[in-house]
Amino acid sequence: MLTQILPIDGSSLRLAKNIIERGGLVAFPTETVYGLGANAFDDDAVKLIYATKGRPSDNPLIVHVHRDYDISALVRDVPDYAKLLAKAFLPGPLTMVYASRGKVSSTVSCGLDTLAVRVPSHEGAQAFLKFVGLPIAAPSANLSKHVSPVTARHVFDDLEGRIELILDGGKCSGGIESTVLDCTGDVPCVLRSGLITRDMIAKVAGECDEYRMVEGERVRSPGMKYKHYSPRCRTALFSYADRMQALALYRQCLSRGERAAIMCDDMTAADMEDAFVLSLGADENAVASNLYDRLREGERVADVLIAVAPLKQDGVMVGVMNRLTKACG
Ligand code: AMP
Ligand code: MG
Repeated sequence: MLTQILPIDGSSLRLAKNIIERGGLVAFPTETVYGLGANAFDDDAVKLIYATKGRPSDNPLIVHVHRDYDISALVRDVPDYAKLLAKAFLPGPLTMVYASRGKVSSTVSCGLDTLAVRVPSHEGAQAFLKFVGLPIAAPSANLSKHVSPVTARHVFDDLEGRIELILDGGKCSGGIESTVLDCTGDVPCVLRSGLITRDMIAKVAGECDEYRMVEGERVRSPGMKYKHYSPRCRTALFSYADRMQALALYRQCLSRGERAAIMCDDMTAADMEDAFVLSLGADENAVASNLYDRLREGERVADVLIAVAPLKQDGVMVGVMNRLTKACG
């Protein structure tokens, strides 16, 4: 299968609609990462997502809809706090989990009675969703367990020959996946942290819980139990306090004749002397936005990627640390 990368315009959107309507897959940009989309009503198309990515069959998908789509067609029991949150943050990088009406393919939610819904703010995603006019089930457009894609090229590197079309909307600005929020209880509960932080949600909703996996308990966000985001090279992760150990490991690698790189924010980079640094940027939003691009660059240029965690650990960094630990820990 030939994989085309096309800019988003009338002709690529017509092709995208055609592919989706005949049960195929289209990769499209969002403000977080690139998604691999299929018609959420078409069970075979949704199954094709799992086969194409090699995704475990118990890891449910998020349904993406256009900003004008009436989600009450897909879900029920939307609590008042969720309406406030939708007004405050949508379209944007917040996925909300509700009781499902069971209208979309049951494969989307892997048999759960809930449905995760997201309204992406990326212009290209909105254009695609409007043109296709269907709810689109989509996980990140990478091979399962690899680093999520933030450019059309990243998608191509993983899925060339497996999908027909990648809509190219440039580099994703957000960089890490959406916050997943359980809206089925009296109080919203963060299942996966992201750019919309627990504090931001609590300010609007009054309160907000955060889910922590407990050994032996049923996992509420099945995707969280999997190893994710792994670059294809050896990795090591150090805390900010241990950054000099990171530098020592870097020197050891070089002396063994291995290619090494240090991935860290600008503050840490200042202490890394003449080491080869893949910079994550200065502030938390830059770090989130650059993380996956640097992980993919790291696997290309280094045998050993040595990550140093930023000093700041709250806000958006909660989501960054979750990914960084899974990728390099
Ligand atoms: P991905 O699209 O690869 O970022 O993965 C989607 C994430 O959304 C996974 O972590 C899933 O566990 C989570 N998710 C999707 N649907 C549901 C649902 N119905 N209930 C809880 N979590 C969900
Ligand atoms: Mg993913």
